[in-house]
Amino acid sequence: MMPSAPDKPLLSVDASLREKLFAKVAYFSMEMAVDEEIPTYSGGLGVLAADTLRAAAGAALPMVGVTLLYRRGYFFQRLDAQGWQREEAVAWSPEDFLCELPERVSVVLEGRTVQVRAWLFLIRDAGEATVPILFLDTDLPENAPWDRTLSHSLYGGDSRYRLCQEVILGIGGVRMLRKLGFGQLELFHMNEGHSSLLTLELLEEAAKRAGRTEPIGEDIEAVRKKCAFTTHTPVSAGHDRFPLEMVRKTIDLPSIVDSEHKGRFCCDGEINLTHLAFQFSHYINGVAKRHSEVSRALFYPATIDSITNGIHVPYWSSPPMQALFDRHIPGWRADAFSIRYAIAIPLEEIREAHEESKARLLQYVNRETNAGMSMEALTIGFARRATAYKRPELILTDLDRLKRISREKGPIQLLFAGKAHPQDEEGKRAIQRIVQSRSRLLPEVRMVYLAEYDLALARLLVAGVDLWLNTPQPPLEASGTSGMKAAVNGVPNLSILDGWWIEGCIEGVTGWSIGPDHYRRKESSDAQQDAQELYEKLERVIVPLFYENGEGYAEVMRQGIALNGSFFNAQRMLQQYVLKAYFV
Ligand SMILES: *Cc1c(COP(=O)(O)O)cnc(C)c1O
Repeated sequence: MMPSAPDKPLLSVDASLREKLFAKVAYFSMEMAVDEEIPTYSGGLGVLAADTLRAAAGAALPMVGVTLLYRRGYFFQRLDAQGWQREEAVAWSPEDFLCELPERVSVVLEGRTVQVRAWLFLIRDAGEATVPILFLDTDLPENAPWDRTLSHSLYGGDSRYRLCQEVILGIGGVRMLRKLGFGQLELFHMNEGHSSLLTLELLEEAAKRAGRTEPIGEDIEAVRKKCAFTTHTPVSAGHDRFPLEMVRKTIDLPSIVDSEHKGRFCCDGEINLTHLAFQFSHYINGVAKRHSEVSRALFYPATIDSITNGIHVPYWSSPPMQALFDRHIPGWRADAFSIRYAIAIPLEEIREAHEESKARLLQYVNRETNAGMSMEALTIGFARRATAYKRPELILTDLDRLKRISREKGPIQLLFAGKAHPQDEEGKRAIQRIVQSRSRLLPEVRMVYLAEYDLALARLLVAGVDLWLNTPQPPLEASGTSGMKAAVNGVPNLSILDGWWIEGCIEGVTGWSIGPDHYRRKESSDAQQDAQELYEKLERVIVPLFYENGEGYAEVMRQGIALNGSFFNAQRMLQQYVLKAYFV
C-alpha cells in the first residue's frame, strides 16, 4: 500500500477508525492481551490493559489503546519429556486478525530514520461496542534489518533492543495518534513505565505549540496535566533503567534535560522510566491498597493513590456462568455492580453451572494429556507466570503430607500452568521440578502441568477448578488478577494475604487465607512455614468442607461471586480511573 499524502490523513483512515477519532484518553501498554490468537502478551499486565479497554468499550468511554506488534509473540511454550521449557516463535499472521492502516510516521533511532506503521484492532465489550487499539510495527522493507526486528519479540533482546522498542511505543505512539487525526486527546495513561518516553514527545509538542523550538519549565506543567501513570512493580529492580549515555545515543534529548529540571529526567547517570513517568504525571496509582502502600515507601515522597485492579466479567465468566447470570441478574453485563444479586441465586444452580465449567476443563485436560482427571475429585488450580516470587512449588513442599491429606480427607488433583521468561532459568527449573514430581504424587494425587498458558487456557482453568491457589512471597504480588477471574466463576480462592486478596478475603466467607498477614505484623515468614499453613487449611477446613458439606462449600462459591465479582471488576476500576485520573 502507498503511504498517504501527509496533508490528508483523515481521508485514508480506515472507516471503522474514523468514527473513533474523538477519543479523549490514550492508553499505552507494552503488552495487550486482546485475544488468544494475538500472542502479544506475557501475563497480567497485558490482561489488565485489554480488560480496561473492554470496559471502556462497554461504557462508551472515548478511549484508544496503543501497543506494539510482536510478530513472534512472547513465545510458544513446549515442555519436553523431562519438563524442560522450550521456546518457539509463535507462528501467526497479523493480517488475519488486524487491519493495516496506510499511514506512516517515523522516529529517529541512533541517527537512522525508522518508519512505523500501525495495525488496527477493535476490542469488544460483551456486545457490539468497541474501542480501537493500535499495534505499532517497524517491520517494513524501507527500514534497516535490525530496526525491523523491533517488531519481533515481547521482552526479548538486550537493553538496547528494549530501549528502541520503548521509543517506538512512547514517541512513535504519540506521533501515530496525531497522524491518524486523534485531535481531542486530553489524557495519556501509561500502564507501567515502558511507555513513559511519550512524555518527551508531549514536551516537544507543548514547546512547538508555544512557538518555541525547545521545551521550558512551563511545558512540564502542561504535560503533567495530561498524563497519568499506573505502577505495577513493587521492587525497584523491576523498573526499566537505561544509562543516560545510551539514551543520548538513541534519541535526541531536549536541552531541558540538562537544565535546572535535570532531576525530573535522570539521576546517577541513568534514565529510569518509572521515575520519568512519576515526574510527568498528575496522577499516580498502585494496583491494590497494599501495593500502593509499598510503592509509597519505595518512591517516597511521591503521592501515590490506589485503584485496585479488576477483571472484565463478560470476558472472564464461563458460558455456563453467563447463562446463570442471564437467568437471575438481567443487565449484569452492563452493570457489574449488580453481580451482588448473585447472593440470591439458589445454591443448586451455582453448583450445576460450576459442574459444567469443570466438565469442559477436564475434558480438555484429559484429551490433551491423558491425565485421567476425575469430576469427583477436589481440583486445585495454580496458573501464572512461573517466576520465583510466585512460589509455584509451595504446595509441593511436602509431598507425603499432600498425599496423606488426599488419602484421608478426600482425593485432591492438581492442575498447573504458566510460562517462565526465556531468560529465567530459575523459573524454568521450577517448572521442571513440578513436572518431575508428578509420578511421586501418584496414586493419591493426580497432577499435570499444562503447557502454553494463554487466554484460552486461562478461561477454562479459572472457571473449571474447584479451588484457586496463590502463594506469592509478600509483598511482591502487586495485585494478581487470576483469583478475581476465579471468584466471579464461583471458584473460591486459597491464597497468601498479599495483593488484592488482602481486600477480597473474608475468611471462610469468600475463600481462605494461608497464614496471617505477616507483612502487616512486620513478621518474617518463610516458605516452610507458609507451606505448613497451607496444608493445615486444606486438611482441617477446605477438603472436609468440600467432601462433607457440599452446601457449605457452595455458600463460599456464591459469596465469592456476589461480594468479590461485584467489586473486583474492570467497570468499577475504570470508573475510578475516570473520576480520579482522567477527567479532573
Ligand atoms: C489473568 C492472567 C494472568 C495474570 O494472573 P495473576 O494471577 O495476576 O498472576 C497471567 N496470564 C494469563 C494468561 C492470564 O489470563
